[in-house]
Amino acid sequence: MKTVLLVLPLDWAEVWLVPFAETAPDLRIHVHERDAIAHHEIDYVFTFRPPHGLLKTFPNLKAVFSLGAGVDGVLSDPEYPRHVPLVRFVDETLSREMAQYCVLHVLMHYRMQRTFDAAQAAREWRQALLPKRPQETRIGILGLGEIGTLTAEWLRDMDFAVAGWSRTRKHVRGVESFAGAGELPAFLHRSDILICLLPLTPDTRGILNAKLFAQLPQDAFVINVARGGHLVEADLIAALDSGHLSGAALDVFHTEPLPQASPLWSHPKITVTPHIAAISEPCAAARYVAERIARFERGEKLDNVVDPARGY
Ligand code: NAP
Repeated sequence: MKTVLLVLPLDWAEVWLVPFAETAPDLRIHVHERDAIAHHEIDYVFTFRPPHGLLKTFPNLKAVFSLGAGVDGVLSDPEYPRHVPLVRFVDETLSREMAQYCVLHVLMHYRMQRTFDAAQAAREWRQALLPKRPQETRIGILGLGEIGTLTAEWLRDMDFAVAGWSRTRKHVRGVESFAGAGELPAFLHRSDILICLLPLTPDTRGILNAKLFAQLPQDAFVINVARGGHLVEADLIAALDSGHLSGAALDVFHTEPLPQASPLWSHPKITVTPHIAAISEPCAAARYVAERIARFERGEKLDNVVDPARGY
């Protein structure tokens, strides 16, 4: 029987015990800081943000499974044992929830819902025409990976003019592809609505900054659903207050939970949600881990393995 250690805050770990027991009865599940277990007995770890330096203390660790699609919380450990494969969570339901979040906020902006909310609050019957047709509204998606591609396809199917930016060139029907740092300015110049779906890596940290906002068209709208570390929050507020950007929807923040004192909470042009765009479903994730451990133990290769040098 193989041993999996859940390295999660204790209240989180409790949530995962039943799904693992039900979907993976062949695995012995232990909880870090709750169960006494010798480090050499641990075969696999399931985690999101492990304490720095912990993973390297398990001498027989065969693989680490990330609870989330993003692995920045694991790779931020400077002592992460690089020879141990790190598998991220790739799940259709999770990708669909992320795409739903993006479509929701694109439509809220495109259909001027905040204007109509204000009119309702004032009991005003304020009819207004939509400013543009969807074909004339250019959406730019930073990151055309699992989630970015699905989001691009859904928005394309709603007739928006969609482009994506990635490290390598993509061929997605009806979606314009921009690749690499050299093509970023041209991509930004044509993005009326910018959606960030990048992984957080040394290359992408702080990418949503004053220099980038200045390259977006007047009245552009920004959606950050990737990681708080992508956004320089003060630069966003300055770009909104100057009137260059028209609004933003943010699901992720530099500090989470978002501190009470943060000006983002009450900014009239910002919508805040508490990192809920998509949440890994415990049974699906437990099944995902159990299937991969079974395959790996049979000598098959692991999939969705992260490249630690690239950071995603
Ligand atoms: P993914 O499949 O790994 O896709 C990442 C995309 O970003 C790829 O297209 C990649 O380009 C591109 N990219 C990476 N570094 C780049 C760079 N330096 N320059 C240009 N493009 C770059 O990731 P995913 O599964 O779509 O997930 C994206 C992120 O969403 C996750 O990392 C996570 O942070 C976030 N997320 C948030 C929530 C939430 O609840 N808010 C939930 C799940 C995920 P190539 O294709 O050329 O490699």
